[in-house]
Amino acid sequence: MQGTKAKIKRINFALLNREVIKPEYCILCGGCESVCPMNVILIEQMQPKLVGGCISCGSCVDICLRINQRLEQPAVSDDLGTILEVYLGKSAKNDIHKNAQNGGIVTSLLLSELKNNSIDGALVTGGGKDLSHPIPMLAFTEEEIRLASRSKYTQNPALSNLDSIKSSYKKNVAVVGLPCHMETLTQFVKKQYLGADTRIKYRIGLFCMSCYKPDSFRDIVKQELGLDFKNITKTDCGRGKFFFETKEGIKEAKINLFHTGKPEGCKYCKDFSAEFADISIGNVGVDDDMNIIIIRTEAGKELFQNVLESNYLDVEKIENPKWSEVLMLANKLSSSKKKNAKPLPVLEL
Ligand SMILES: Cc1cc2nc3c(=O)[nH]c(=O)nc-3n(C[C@H](O)[C@H](O)[C@H](O)COP(=O)(O)OP(=O)(O)OC[C@H]3O[C@@H](n4cnc5c(N)ncnc54)[C@H](O)[C@@H]3O)c2cc1C
Ligand code: SF4
Ligand code: SF4
Ligand code: SF4
Repeated sequence: MQGTKAKIKRINFALLNREVIKPEYCILCGGCESVCPMNVILIEQMQPKLVGGCISCGSCVDICLRINQRLEQPAVSDDLGTILEVYLGKSAKNDIHKNAQNGGIVTSLLLSELKNNSIDGALVTGGGKDLSHPIPMLAFTEEEIRLASRSKYTQNPALSNLDSIKSSYKKNVAVVGLPCHMETLTQFVKKQYLGADTRIKYRIGLFCMSCYKPDSFRDIVKQELGLDFKNITKTDCGRGKFFFETKEGIKEAKINLFHTGKPEGCKYCKDFSAEFADISIGNVGVDDDMNIIIIRTEAGKELFQNVLESNYLDVEKIENPKWSEVLMLANKLSSSKKKNAKPLPVLEL
């Protein structure tokens, strides 16, 4: 058309900023930071920021789960996603079980596979200076994997460390993460960024209803319970409450009290059970020291079978007619998360 300039939409950080970060859809998965070939994205003050020259390669836009959800909605199922097998149980190793969040299944899978040389390492989340400071790290030793056990309920840019897998030259790595981490990771694998398609052997997902902003989480715990996070040895949630364990005992507070600490980005999340993982692990509806395990892929089946044979697990296989009973609460939470999630506006690139 005469007199009008064709508008070319540049696929770059400015687009990511405009369509995901500014409107607060970002859930701080960390993927954009690790994928940037120029290393000019840094997560600072709980936000991805541009700290140098962007060459408009488009990689950060390409892997971001929120961009993909806006382009191809809906990305998740109506229920708990693909299920091949279901197990209930805990670690057979007492030293793992007693230091774990629930049944210690996640730590057992990693330790057993490391011992068998089936994985070279795992991307896990350690506790930093306390349990409100999650630190993603690539663990190569038994000790490092053990140190990462137990849940950290605050925002965690776990995938910001994905590039360390490539620089480690390791080929067989397991990644543990929340549903949002698993979804961005799937983009990495599908689009072959950072060698994720050849280096990541297993994706182990955790159930997640929400995480919390670290400052708000610490403040609410202090105000409501008078507790300082440096004294907290375990945080757990269930039956509508948070539980905080210290040497002096366990204090509890209603989850509703933490509502203001929920990050805006989590309000758009529809995935409770880590539908993009090879294996999903949670605890809802079973005893505190047990896990529910959902096997979703052939890779997940292989991982679980290997570990079953190495005697690290004390689990029972649940046959299909009983799935609905065992997964009743998980199904309920999953449906309510999908139903109550804010809708993401459609994006056209
Ligand atoms: C933020 C959050 C919310 C959760 N919400 C629910 C829920 O609503 N319902 C439910 O049934 N289960 C939930 N879980 C999962 C549950 O807390 C346990 O992680 C799960 O049952 C596995 O227990 P385990 O004993 O096998 O774990 P462990 O053997 O103790 O291993 C825990 C693993 O979790 C990883 N990890 C810890 N914190 C994080 C984090 N913030 N991000 C990524 N990875 C992390 C560590 O790397 C470690 O490898 C949640 C977990 C988190 C982190
Ligand atoms: S959701 Fe993840 S990839 Fe997207 S902008 Fe946020 S941190 Fe980056
Ligand atoms: S260089 Fe590429 S990955 Fe880095 S900010 Fe720019 S578009 Fe994103
Ligand atoms: S609620 Fe969703 S977006 Fe928020 S931490 Fe959990 S999985 Fe990630």
